[in-house]
Amino acid sequence: MDEKLKNVKCFLLDMDGTVYLGDNLIDGAVDAVKRMNERCRALFLTNNSSAAPSDYVCKLRKMGFTVKDDDVFTSGNATIEYLHAHYPRKRVFLFGNDKLFAQFKAGGINLTEEDPDLAVVGFDTTFNYDRLTKLCDFIREGVPYITTHGDINCPTAHGYKPDVGSFIALIEKSTGVSPLLICGKPFSPIAESIQRVLGLNKHEIAMVGDRISTDMQFAINNGFVSVLVLTGEGTVEEAEKAGQKIDVVLKSIADWDK
Ligand SMILES: [Mg+2]
Repeated sequence: MDEKLKNVKCFLLDMDGTVYLGDNLIDGAVDAVKRMNERCRALFLTNNSSAAPSDYVCKLRKMGFTVKDDDVFTSGNATIEYLHAHYPRKRVFLFGNDKLFAQFKAGGINLTEEDPDLAVVGFDTTFNYDRLTKLCDFIREGVPYITTHGDINCPTAHGYKPDVGSFIALIEKSTGVSPLLICGKPFSPIAESIQRVLGLNKHEIAMVGDRISTDMQFAINNGFVSVLVLTGEGTVEEAEKAGQKIDVVLKSIADWDK
């Protein structure tokens, strides 16, 4: 095993491209995650705030992973943590779908439809025009906003869906106001939230993923051990081109302790 992995107490796992490809499990991934959990902790990580952790738990279980709700951390979880730490008891207008509303309510966030202190923009895949107008009205009136993540598009089996990064562009055009911050990968709020939840130092956390611009940049930005797997999009050449120094490169997650 690589020296840098010996101190790791939690592996953050990207999903698509790292433990599965679409609906196909990556060979040896179930056993690799089991070995991680025997030695320390594995936490599945996603920027998608349109789904609940339980949705991912369902998919992962069907594929054979042993996983509980708190083994999945979404940008929705990160945003809730961030709000408790930096905006305790503030009144929040949420732009998100039903699942994100349920998560925020269960997470003890004080949601309001009128006179908010802050707006949160999540990946709302169900919004209508009135809701978007209401959000932009609040922002134009001076209500600051943060977003769960900043991905421009969300990949699907049939192409791309516009994601929160595209919503931000629209809001900025309409209101002239940029978000105070973006919680998800590769930015630091989600990293701070994870550290708080786990109670670990940076060098005790490794990010395992296939994307250079998100997963590896996230690890590098936040001082986590970077572990690139070559089962998805990213390549070593691409990392070198981007000037990144990856700590560990693995052909597959199955090889992490070999
Ligand atoms: Mg990926």
